[in-house]
Amino acid sequence: MVSAARLLRHDVSRDPRYDILFEPVKIGPVTARNRFYQVPHCNGMGHLHPSSTAAMRAMKAEGGWAVICTEECEIHPTTDVSPFVEERLWDDSDIPHLARMTDAVHAHGALAGIELVFQGHETANRYSRDVPMAVSNLVGSAYDPVQAYAMSKRDIADFRRWHRDAAIRAKQAGFDLVYVYAGHNLSLPMHFLSRRFNDRSDEYGGSLENRVRLLKELIIDTKEAVGDTCAVPVRLSVDEIIGPDGIVSAEEGQDIIGMLAELPDLWDVNVSDWSNDSVTSRFGEEGSQEDYIVFVKTLTSKPVVGVGRFTSPDAMVSQIKRGVLDMIGAARPSIADPFLPKKIEEGRLEDIRECIGCNICVTGDFTKTPIRCTQNPTMGEEWRKDWHPEKIAPRKSDARILVVGAGPAGLECTRALGNRGYDVALAEASTELGGRVVHESRLPGLSAWSRVRDYRVGQIQPMTNVEVYLDSQLHADDVREFGADHVIIATGSHWRRDGIGRANFKPVPGSDGDHVYTPDDIISGADIVGPAIVFDDDHYYMGGIIAELLRSKGHDVTLVTPAADASTWTHNTLEQHRIQKRLLESGIGIIPLHNLAAIHADSVELSCNYSNRVTKRPAASIIMTTMRLPNDALYRDLTNDKRTLADSGIKSVTRIGDALAPASIAASVYSGHRYARELDEPVDRDAPFKRELSTLGSF
Ligand code: ADP
Ligand code: SF4
Repeated sequence: MVSAARLLRHDVSRDPRYDILFEPVKIGPVTARNRFYQVPHCNGMGHLHPSSTAAMRAMKAEGGWAVICTEECEIHPTTDVSPFVEERLWDDSDIPHLARMTDAVHAHGALAGIELVFQGHETANRYSRDVPMAVSNLVGSAYDPVQAYAMSKRDIADFRRWHRDAAIRAKQAGFDLVYVYAGHNLSLPMHFLSRRFNDRSDEYGGSLENRVRLLKELIIDTKEAVGDTCAVPVRLSVDEIIGPDGIVSAEEGQDIIGMLAELPDLWDVNVSDWSNDSVTSRFGEEGSQEDYIVFVKTLTSKPVVGVGRFTSPDAMVSQIKRGVLDMIGAARPSIADPFLPKKIEEGRLEDIRECIGCNICVTGDFTKTPIRCTQNPTMGEEWRKDWHPEKIAPRKSDARILVVGAGPAGLECTRALGNRGYDVALAEASTELGGRVVHESRLPGLSAWSRVRDYRVGQIQPMTNVEVYLDSQLHADDVREFGADHVIIATGSHWRRDGIGRANFKPVPGSDGDHVYTPDDIISGADIVGPAIVFDDDHYYMGGIIAELLRSKGHDVTLVTPAADASTWTHNTLEQHRIQKRLLESGIGIIPLHNLAAIHADSVELSCNYSNRVTKRPAASIIMTTMRLPNDALYRDLTNDKRTLADSGIKSVTRIGDALAPASIAASVYSGHRYARELDEPVDRDAPFKRELSTLGSF
């Protein structure tokens, strides 16, 4: 039997090829125990959920990362990024919140870093109602009817004082690294560097030397304030990937690093904006920033950190040996697997839960809710549910479990129940494990998503208490005969064909025609003819990707959506602009703000969201991407006949994942994990997790 102990074994040692990753690195006055560096990353919890944030960061320290950073930390009410939830260090009252994190990180032998931020014109100060101030008279990229005014010399002096005071508070809170942040188009020092934002005519504008002045002053201020015990890293975006309007690594990017080369204690370099820095696997490979940042180490003797969704220790070693990086920066790989360094150190590469590059983690920031991760269902649940990514309670009974369906939900449920020590049988109708991941990872750009399956299958395989049955479509009789105590229905879902979804509450007239398809049909290889209309009322990736797939096969394709743009929810995953660009560039027409009103033999009627005006378009094939329906026939067959169920000895039948309510792959993994955690455990449905409550201020 394989139990939780297996996950924490220390009886294996690492491959000597990876020794270099475990060398200590001196960063100014502090020393990192190895080269694994969790760079700043948002999490949707921040100052509103300090215990959750501390526990999440501490988990990574426990998992072997040498440096653990906060996300952006506001230094003053004039840089209030509400409603986004980041860290806050406006005054001394914020210190205890952050000290909770540093204490927790230090307890596991890691260093704690803080990324001080002042966002200039990119904050609307919605909560503080202070007037934003910026390098010049500017408006932010959000559409608030708010403008920022150009900072006077006095404002610059105030800003420098606030930054210095925040650095001192950070030191009091126990931080070992205090950042000067000039990255992502979201920080005042970067706005000063930028020719397109900085139109000043004083000593802070004009020449590059002048535009660098503020960044230089901040580094010096911060070192003077806290540099005796704290390292002062600089985070700089060396290329904005927008051409000559922005910083270009081969030009000003190099010049800036050259001018400041030895001043900071560490260079944390990347590309901006955030969508370039955290590019999804659909649009960028592991290590995709290398060409932009490779020059940095030639200009400085200080340690250099960079990111690239690194999950492979060989790729990491290559970065170090080829002189690209000194430390392996990671946000997403540390989210998907907080124990990545430990697993490399202990020679357990097969246990690494590799990030799939989907950016579900990023959606926590955009939706202002606690972070979640497709691969790591415990992410964000460390404090409020006491979930540990590598530990799970041993089984509390001898119950035998049957899991029906081996998609993300069924696989994760099986994996986690197997770890608990339960005897589990997993039955899958098809000849492959993975469910929707098998099919979806074959869609354009989604191959990395197969890691959801690969990790779980790899974990389940050695478990002697888990039996896997492929090619086993189970019916109610089969399940009753099997003799399990608990049956878990993880049978997934299918796309509905009738057009019902967000925009239509009744079937679209004509949707019963033979030329109406669903994404399931297209994925299964349906041979359609063009012109094709993809009706996207789902708004995540599927509509756009089906359009892309059909176009790649040479069809004339138009995407129709009631939303304002294609795949609109992917704004939350930093992908929407890339998807829209790819669709347009590949010749796919996009008709936004329209509903599908009716389907005819060779045309469709589209109605404008606002005027209801109907227009006709030629259409030989229509692909309905609206919503999915649970595959719950087996569940209903079993539970409708309660007496036969009771006679069979089955104690419970439970739906998980898409079989209950279709959602993201992340939601399916979470659902499977949750079932496994809660089996035979006391569960309070009324208070399923701890909450962090605001304190009452005094009157
Ligand atoms: P989820 O995301 O909830 O895990 P998926 O659709 O990815 O859902 O996976 C569901 C899996 O269940 C598919 O691999 C499918 O073949 C399998 N399945 C569906 N019905 C049955 C059944 N009656 N018996 C065994 N396997 C089934
Ligand atoms: Fe990686 Fe996706 Fe997890 Fe983010 S949510 S860490 S991109 S697997």
